[in-house]
Amino acid sequence: MSERRGFTVWFTGLSGAGKTTIAEIVGPELEARGGLVEYLDGDVVRTHLSKGLGFSKEDRDTNIERIGWVASRFTRAGAWTLVSAISPYAATRNTARGMVEEFGPFIEVFVDTSVEECARRDVKGLYAKAFSGEIKEFTGVSDPYEAPPEADVHLRTEGSSPEESAAALVAALEEKGLIGPKVAA
Ligand code: ADP
Repeated sequence: MSERRGFTVWFTGLSGAGKTTIAEIVGPELEARGGLVEYLDGDVVRTHLSKGLGFSKEDRDTNIERIGWVASRFTRAGAWTLVSAISPYAATRNTARGMVEEFGPFIEVFVDTSVEECARRDVKGLYAKAFSGEIKEFTGVSDPYEAPPEADVHLRTEGSSPEESAAALVAALEEKGLIGPKVAA
């Protein structure tokens, strides 16, 4: 088995689309299959690695390039790395892909949820502020989001539970030969 072969699963999608939720369900599932799992969550990264960066295109790109670099190192070390970051720009996601692919597979997962649905969920209370103009440069409302035209895995969360979305991703990783069956405890 290739348990120790690192790879990166890169979740992209709007704020509130479900990136973190799905990563948190998939992570333990991957551990049960023998992986050493690392998480790079955009909100967490912005509290240390990217502290001080804002939401201009330049700062967003810098943030994603830093996450891509760390993901490449984790991948090199054999970790199964789950990145949850809006990562709105296709070119920057491709830069991250290039860094990771020096060491292992990069699986782009489009967590596809409409702005309307994300605003309805409004998990962090940000959409109300974005629509009122209190928060500027908000992805999907007042800032661009470039949906991946050909994501490796496309999860449409509307009409699916988080568990169903996570299971679809695990099945796709199995199909790609990246993970094996659960190992006995
Ligand atoms: P993000 O990390 O993309 O900003 P979160 O994971 O923080 O988003 O929030 C997503 C919200 O959407 C959660 O409240 C989650 O329960 C809900 N949700 C509903 N359906 C799904 C689904 N199929 N997959 C993931 N999350 C979903």
